[in-house]
Amino acid sequence: MSRLSRRTFLAASAALVAAPAVHVEAATVDVDVAIIGAGAAGIAAARRIAAAKRSYRLIEASARVGGRCAVDTKTFGVPFDLGAHWIHNPDSNPLVAAAPKNGLDIYAAPRAQGLRVGPRRARDSELESFLAAQVRAQRAIVDAGKAKADMPAQRALPKDLGPWQPAIEFMFGPYALGKDLSGVSAFDLARAVDRDGDAFCRQGYGGLLARLAGDVTVQLSNPVSMVSWVAGQGVTVETAKGDLYARTVILTVSTNVLASDAIEFIPPLPKRQLDAAGKLSLGSLNHIALEMPGNPLGLQRDDIVFEQASGARTAALLANIGGTDLHVVEVGGAFGRELAAKGEAAMVDFATEWVSNAFGAEAKRAIKRSHATRWDADPLALGAISSAAPGASDARKILAEPLGGRVFFAGEALHETQWGTVNGAWDSGTRAADAVLRRLGGAKEDGEQKPARRKSKSSRPRRNSQ
Ligand SMILES: Cc1cc2nc3c(=O)[nH]c(=O)nc-3n(C[C@H](O)[C@H](O)[C@H](O)COP(=O)(O)OP(=O)(O)OC[C@H]3O[C@@H](n4cnc5c(N)ncnc54)[C@H](O)[C@@H]3O)c2cc1C
Repeated sequence: MSRLSRRTFLAASAALVAAPAVHVEAATVDVDVAIIGAGAAGIAAARRIAAAKRSYRLIEASARVGGRCAVDTKTFGVPFDLGAHWIHNPDSNPLVAAAPKNGLDIYAAPRAQGLRVGPRRARDSELESFLAAQVRAQRAIVDAGKAKADMPAQRALPKDLGPWQPAIEFMFGPYALGKDLSGVSAFDLARAVDRDGDAFCRQGYGGLLARLAGDVTVQLSNPVSMVSWVAGQGVTVETAKGDLYARTVILTVSTNVLASDAIEFIPPLPKRQLDAAGKLSLGSLNHIALEMPGNPLGLQRDDIVFEQASGARTAALLANIGGTDLHVVEVGGAFGRELAAKGEAAMVDFATEWVSNAFGAEAKRAIKRSHATRWDADPLALGAISSAAPGASDARKILAEPLGGRVFFAGEALHETQWGTVNGAWDSGTRAADAVLRRLGGAKEDGEQKPARRKSKSSRPRRNSQ
């Protein structure tokens, strides 16, 4: 796709989502740090750099902040998180700690799970047996993390989970990671930290992140097309609104975007880094939102429901989100990717059939409006969550290696234990900013000069001729 048509597409798709109140400014100044991407990692990095009084430019391709953690309040008139929704480990989550006390309502997520067996609610004994199977699966993955050699996480699972095997495989794979467990490293999965409870934000996790972005200046609708750096000379960042000259750059785009040719690197990214990005590819995870007024499924606020699946063609339901009429059917993995490729109508058809099978045919008539996310097709994400391929659990460390003390990487994929989460992305952005600050000699003292503009274009890193 040509750059022009890509940008035209971005401008059109971005208009669908409400733009948050952020400071917007014009391009082309010299700065200490150029930060590419205003998702959780980029916002965290910008806040850290700003706190150290270093100059920065946070550059975002789309017309909104948040990346894979953004809220849409227009489609249904209530907050609908397009990506991340579960606030993991709220007691230690840095976004919760930084969140403004006014205007955001953060509350604990229910710990209980619902389970459907065909069209009926599971009996207590069935639910107990399902929960026991989850505990056995979790232990098996932890044990696989202590083995001598890595293996696909699916091989690590017990094979005698009986009628719950497909549901457990869905829960630990497509639902949690967007990938089937056969394509996920058991070592990497075992390293993912235990989740100590979850919370929700009534204004959406995306609403919370957008509030945190309000403290920094973001340049929106400005895709970066080229990063050119020379050790000892700084970095040129080519954007739609002109070139920017920075001492250092922090790149936070997803691994799939990094591995695509959307951003040209001069010199090209080392093969080692590109291979690492390829081994940390994003899985497919999407929300199919159904507006069902009057609680026709008879569920509680924020109830999560699984089914006794018979194969990979399954889903989970998050009901009455935040006490609203919004229900979300979650699809992921290879099945979810195929479904998403068929388009929104096919996704809504599947969700309608799934809800009808689990709750009765009348549920279908209760659906008013619907909408499905398609992260795989979003050119600024190209997928949902990064997980390491079997044998590639060291790829996160490799991808995190800075280039020539100039180009630093951040994002969910770089966090060794909290990958695939907003809090992991945030931590990674903060760490990259700290590394940059060390490189720059620490926080700026009052009165210290801004880097001087280069005298002539010939002295800055240039695009290769080939
Ligand atoms: C459907 C779904 C459900 C999820 N559920 C949860 C959950 O419940 N809880 C949880 O903690 N996590 C969840 N996640 C994962 C979480 O959303 C991500 O881990 C996190 O948001 C990633 O943040 P990031 O900053 O690393 O990357 P991103 O959010 O992808 O940010 C990168 C930014 O770079 C921008 N960009 C891309 N290309 C360019 C360019 N050329 N120039 C300039 N900017 C560019 C993008 O537009 C984007 O804003 C979910 C993700 C998805 C998709």
